[in-house]
Formats: sequence, C-alpha cells, structure tokens
Amino acid sequence: MTTVFEKIIKGHIPSQKYYEDEEILVIQDIAPQARVHILIIPKEPFECLQKMPKDRLYLIQKVVEIAQMMAIQFDIKDSYRLLTNNGIEAGQTVFHLHFHLIGGEPLGPMA
Ligand code: AMP
Repeated sequence: MTTVFEKIIKGHIPSQKYYEDEEILVIQDIAPQARVHILIIPKEPFECLQKMPKDRLYLIQKVVEIAQMMAIQFDIKDSYRLLTNNGIEAGQTVFHLHFHLIGGEPLGPMA
C-alpha cells in the first residue's frame, strides 16, 4: 500500500523539506510534538526498522549522521530524542520507516 511518505518522496503531496539526497528525505512533521519535530525518512520503502534487510543497515548510520547535522542546524544539539516507532503497539501510524528528531523544549519522561 502506498503511504503518505511515499507520496511526499515522489512529490505528489507537498511537504516542508529540510534536507534531501538520493537516499534520505528530511521533512517537517505535520503535527509537531515539540518546538522541533522533524522526520528523517529513508526513501526506500521499508515498512519499519524490523523489516530492514542487513544490506541496507548502512542507511541507519546515514540517518544518525543526518540527525546530528539537523540537530546543529536546529540548535538542539545538546538535547534531543531520535526515535522510531516499530509497529502498531509502539505507536507507528505510517508504515514507511522514519525517524523522529524531537527537541527544542523539555521533553519529559518516555511513555
Ligand atoms: P509514526 O506515528 O511514528 O508512524 O509517525 C508518523 C508521523 O508522521 C506523525 O508524527 C505524523 O504527524 C506525521 N505525518 C503524517 N502525515 C504527514 C504529512 N503529510 N507530512 C508530514 N508529517 C506527517
């Protein structure tokens, strides 16, 4: 099934883009949970982290490198959360792997 992120990656629906290369897209979350809430999305449509094949795990290193870069750009490098929700019970709603980079204010304890 085509997800909203696939439509964004293909340019079929608009988004606020902060970074893009051939493998990764970074956009503003449409319903931010903190002052800074951006999404780091591998373009290849993995359903979730658990479904990533070994030969694509290098993309996770790239996600972390981009997260560090965005944390500097958004001036949150001293405090942020980088997370992915894997599966329905974890809160995943869009079934195309993505990482939330959240910060810019006190975040409180994890649920
Ligand atoms: P998750 O619940 O972990 O699957 O995260 C999905 C995230 O995608 C949520 O934080 C949503 O607010 C965000 N989202 C859904 N649709 C859009 C959209 N069109 N543009 C940007 N972010 C979106």
